[in-house]
Amino acid sequence: TTLAVPGIRGLTPYQPGKPIGELEREFALERIVKLASNENPLGASPKALEVVRRILGASHLYPDGNGFELKAALAQKLGVEPAQIVLGNGSNDVLDLVARVFLAPGRNAVYSEHAFAVYPIATQTAGATGKPAPAHDGSRGPRFGHDLQAMLERVDPDTRVVFIANPNNPTGTLLGRCELHSFLAALPEHVIAVVDEAYFEYANSPDHPNALDWLEEFPGLIVTRTFSKAYGLAGLRVGYAVSGREVADLLNRARQPFNVNALGLAAATAALEDTGFLEATVQANDAGLRRLEAGFRKRCLDFIPSAGNFLSFDLGRPAAPVFDALLREGVIVRPVGNYGLPNHLRVTVGTTEEIDIFFAALDRVLGS
Ligand code: PMP
Repeated sequence: TTLAVPGIRGLTPYQPGKPIGELEREFALERIVKLASNENPLGASPKALEVVRRILGASHLYPDGNGFELKAALAQKLGVEPAQIVLGNGSNDVLDLVARVFLAPGRNAVYSEHAFAVYPIATQTAGATGKPAPAHDGSRGPRFGHDLQAMLERVDPDTRVVFIANPNNPTGTLLGRCELHSFLAALPEHVIAVVDEAYFEYANSPDHPNALDWLEEFPGLIVTRTFSKAYGLAGLRVGYAVSGREVADLLNRARQPFNVNALGLAAATAALEDTGFLEATVQANDAGLRRLEAGFRKRCLDFIPSAGNFLSFDLGRPAAPVFDALLREGVIVRPVGNYGLPNHLRVTVGTTEEIDIFFAALDRVLGS
């Protein structure tokens, strides 16, 4: 470890949701339900899958390194220029690009104490320092949600990036339009604001901001989105950033050639057109969220109201043993102790059947 640069030594590796195959090898289980990675329980758009099958035969060819078609389709849908879009191998790749371009030793990035795990990884890998800000304790704002005042107080002359996921993973908390806008307006000019909208498509509240509306007003704003969640293409790894042209140009200079694969590019382009699939996804998610909420209320378990396709619930005691016991029942959820929530577990909104299987397993585990 002494060979690694200091930022790497202090990192904890990203812990992905446990793969189904791993559980199959460990326990003899009839059915395994994975609600651990905020994947789409309806799968992917059939139209996207059809395109993937069609172009598999061209696997010997490099993908379009500039993602011309996908960028054109995105630009049209979002009302921006293709030159404002940077594609990534998932939005994680884009987050990493931002860190590589704007962070370095001596610089720092500010994010919430319950922020998405990739922010500290990208920050420290770039040799910069992460400055986590405490979240709301419930006295002034929604408990566990971003405390924007605390974040502003952490910004100093060496801060170059602020990361905000809206809604946030794993808390599901949402910042409203006015509060997020005032925060962006209060940031000094030397700070890049990343508004990570990985769960944007699930928005169902009138106060859900669309940070793209503010790109012209804030030249240092980067909005990131993904095809992994509502579009159901997590395995194909496509995400993107939208920003002003100048920032997009900088990101594209550092981007690896061919960072998005050919199947992902084609599938994402087709998925964008399948508005019916997206609507069905969002509707099913709303219904699933309500079902989860009702289930937790019935069991007198606290949960954090979520604007995403997942929900974190509070066991009131260390969650790790419950997580393990659920695994033995064939239900994979996500421990969030590494996100500063040791008593919570995060469950992805599954189908009605999956949610019922989850609660039945939880009841067996909790002995109620
Ligand atoms: N941002 C947030 C807030 C997320 O929850 C996730 C997925 N876990 C991502 C970014 C990254 O998703 P992907 O790389 O699949 O686009």
